[in-house]
Amino acid sequence: MKLKLSSPIEVLPIPKKYKKELRKLKLEKVGDLLFYFPQRYEDYSNLKKIKDLKIGEKVSIQGKIKEIENIISPLKKRVLTEALVEDETGSLRVVWFNQPFLKNYFKRGDKVSLSGKVSSDSFYPLYLSSPYFEKIKPHKTLIHTGRVISFYSETKGISSKLIRWLIFLLLKEFKEKLPETLPEEILKKAKLLTLREAIEKIHFPAELKEAKKAKLRFQFEELFLLHLSVLKERLALEKEKAFKIEISSQLLERFKESLPFKLTLDQEKCIKEIVQDLSKETPMNRLLQGDVGSGKTAVAAFSALATIKAGYQVALMAPTEILSKQHFQEIHKLLAPFRVEIGLLTGKQDKLLSKKLPGQTIEISRKKLLEKTLSGDLDLLIGTHALIQEKVKFGNLALVILDEQHRFGVKQRAKLLKQGKASSFIPHLLSMTATPIPRTLALTIYGDLDISIIEKPPPGRKPAITQLVEPEERFKVYEFLRKEIKKGKQLFVICPKIEPKEGKLAHLKSVEKEYEFLKSEVFPEFKVAKLHGKMKTSERDKVIQEFREGKIQILVATSVVEVGIDVPQATLMIIEGAERFGLAQLHQFRGRIQRSKEQAFCFLFVSGNLSEKAKKRLQALLSTKSGLELAEIDLKLRGPGSFLGARQWGMPDLAMSALANQKLVKRTKEIAQEILTQDPELKKYPVLAKRIKKFKEIFHKE
Ligand code: ADP
Ligand code: MG
Repeated sequence: MKLKLSSPIEVLPIPKKYKKELRKLKLEKVGDLLFYFPQRYEDYSNLKKIKDLKIGEKVSIQGKIKEIENIISPLKKRVLTEALVEDETGSLRVVWFNQPFLKNYFKRGDKVSLSGKVSSDSFYPLYLSSPYFEKIKPHKTLIHTGRVISFYSETKGISSKLIRWLIFLLLKEFKEKLPETLPEEILKKAKLLTLREAIEKIHFPAELKEAKKAKLRFQFEELFLLHLSVLKERLALEKEKAFKIEISSQLLERFKESLPFKLTLDQEKCIKEIVQDLSKETPMNRLLQGDVGSGKTAVAAFSALATIKAGYQVALMAPTEILSKQHFQEIHKLLAPFRVEIGLLTGKQDKLLSKKLPGQTIEISRKKLLEKTLSGDLDLLIGTHALIQEKVKFGNLALVILDEQHRFGVKQRAKLLKQGKASSFIPHLLSMTATPIPRTLALTIYGDLDISIIEKPPPGRKPAITQLVEPEERFKVYEFLRKEIKKGKQLFVICPKIEPKEGKLAHLKSVEKEYEFLKSEVFPEFKVAKLHGKMKTSERDKVIQEFREGKIQILVATSVVEVGIDVPQATLMIIEGAERFGLAQLHQFRGRIQRSKEQAFCFLFVSGNLSEKAKKRLQALLSTKSGLELAEIDLKLRGPGSFLGARQWGMPDLAMSALANQKLVKRTKEIAQEILTQDPELKKYPVLAKRIKKFKEIFHKE
């Protein structure tokens, strides 16, 4: 058989059912297996003679099978396989549970290697319980026993043993053919293992130290590529030209006077940072980060106003129709005194606020709206993804604002930036997010962005009273909520799943089940509705609209509510399975009910018993903290992987875990910078250039 690293895993010499399981692990090509790294190791390199064994030791022994038989244990109805193994110093009892096939697998006289823990009970003073096993044969390397053993993330049908065996075969075949992926000078400079060494040692280390060194090499590589890709992007942007936007200080004064509130210091600071960027000839690429309700819109509105008054156009894109409409209304209110023309373009609706008639909304045809956009008559166009259609062209677009930027892919962003008429200028970009990302992390994954942060919310906000509720108190909480809803308040109920699950996840609450339960058993007197990502957009919009209008009192939803649903009367929230969510995310959920002067209440329920760590996490939420503080705590307690949600970022686990290593983050950045300073286009490093292109695709899931 001619195996290649690029062959599909179907060519592997294993039964079909395993191939299906491998695919479930996202192992599609033979080569993927080599890069499927162990999750943990167990050190069984302690090889001992039988006579020297001590209770509790983790050891390996080698000997001959003297006897082996299956016994049905009468009490527990399970099969025990008992064997007597002997070496030249003595013999030892070995027991396996529920693996009756072992009786036929081993023959009397077989030489075996066993790794396990030495146990003791009233029958046998010393025995090995369910040790890992492997037959010893001439010229055969031990891979499952008698050494540091690697363990992989498994699925139901596939064991670490199988994965280990496959990888062993593949390494034998391919190791010497693997091309090095890092330049030699970098390997030397950073004292890293070569790819060939590292790949062997990460799967089959002779000692734990080796595994660590191998892992370091791969972590280095991931971070290095991440920095290279981000820094290269930044260099490229710095070469571009943008419209230089001159802003009179008078305009800011007038804007501030016109507001119904006083800008907070943080808002002022962010505006200042943005204004400075806009006045430069290179394009701004700035992230505005602030909790839900922190007042990002006012900052965005002034950035837009400044650009418009300098004679240019602005585009604002939001991820949903509802958010777009909210922005349309809100920004119109904020900019009303300045006579700007604002358009709304979504999948369904096209509206225009005319500057001739302040405060008045006119519905105009899409054709007309697009004409005004192209001619430059329209000052600000707000909308959904509809903004990046071919036919939307701006006459002189100088600023692009993205709300909830993480909801958009790089390509969508890039496309919006190109919606201006063909010219050598590209617009400034202001991205907004309510997802707090700790500074250290942000500097790495957003290294190509500058960041402005609104840390403190506007004064006078009452934080939601947040409580962790014991299961037996559930109905008390329902009764409390019933009273509040009768007073006109509305309730969000957030569940971790859409549909009920089986098996390990069966205890998690689902929207479907909770919706039925609340509707028919707890709150029959109220209108209850559900909201989740599997519903059609039109259905979802309808539910949200009715919730806003107060026609629905209780909304049972998944995490979809995290994205800017703005309903002042909704001041009540239940979060089910709270331990399943990140702190920052919980904080964002809670932000949804803190939008009015009314006291808000947030009740957290957990599914099952919590670990100390999980409790600690949730406790942090109870004493009110800013989203940024919570994010820092989350990062510390859960590590970057779970924190960012490796899936969401499409980032390799290894890079995620590496992000926690600040020293490595710094070192890799320095080296990436050095390389780019000497060779900005990576001409000397074609392999790297190719890889960061690929890396970017994975990283951004496109
Ligand atoms: P977000 O950052 O979530 O987009 P918004 O910009 O929608 O927050 O602001 C939330 C609410 O706070 C709005 O009703 C807005 O009018 C109000 N707001 C914004 N800035 C201030 C301020 N400086 N003082 C008082 N209220 C403010
Ligand atoms: Mg907002």
